[in-house]
Amino acid sequence: MKPLTIAIDGPSGAGKSSIADVVCKKLNILHLDTGAMYRAVGLCALEMGIDPTDEAAVSQMCEEGRALVDVKYQDGQQLTLLNGRDVSPLIRTQEVGGAASAVSRYVPVRRMLVRRQQEMAAAQPMLLDGRDIGTVVLPDATVKIFLTASPEERARRRMLQLQEKGDNTPFEEVLAEVNARDLQDTTRELTPLRQADDAVLLDSSSLTFDETVQAILTLVEEKYGKQ
Ligand code: C5P
Repeated sequence: MKPLTIAIDGPSGAGKSSIADVVCKKLNILHLDTGAMYRAVGLCALEMGIDPTDEAAVSQMCEEGRALVDVKYQDGQQLTLLNGRDVSPLIRTQEVGGAASAVSRYVPVRRMLVRRQQEMAAAQPMLLDGRDIGTVVLPDATVKIFLTASPEERARRRMLQLQEKGDNTPFEEVLAEVNARDLQDTTRELTPLRQADDAVLLDSSSLTFDETVQAILTLVEEKYGKQ
């Protein structure tokens, strides 16, 4: 039997990562947050003084092996490595998020990261979250979920997260950022964000965190049996 693979895709701020973390703990499998890998490439460009929207320069950076991204796990927690250095604490800013969204439009970036994600998922049971997991990375995933919520609800959640870090960006600004990111992710030429035909749509706007986790666990049980 192939290792269990769970694909969760959806727009920015839908809660994919935090929900996935809890689902993975319950199922005792690893969680690969693929957005963190795109963020590491975005960070790499920023640190090297490369404009993340400069396709030629970003592509060259990847092709020359100057943006080597990998992931390792410490006590089940993902550490995202850039050229061997743990950059997990540096990739959660709005600036790096914007850079990630820009670099993720380029073929060499996606080719490099998708290959690594597929290798990891082939080696062990895993849950991957991102934008193209059910459509491109794991078209044969055991369970595919498209997790979304209204832009306002996602902005509200993002604002609370930022406030916890002492960032008091006003709601309107966070909402504008969410809408801009949605537009960029859904209209880009290369693998735009879309629900796979065989994915289950889960709208968490009016669900609590625990209800969303439970809905996913139920789907896994239906498709794969009780873990
Ligand atoms: O999920 P997160 O917001 O951390 O992702 C950062 C950016 O990386 C997204 O805006 C998206 O453009 C890109 N991304 C992607 N494919 C993935 C995961 C993330 O294009 N599988």
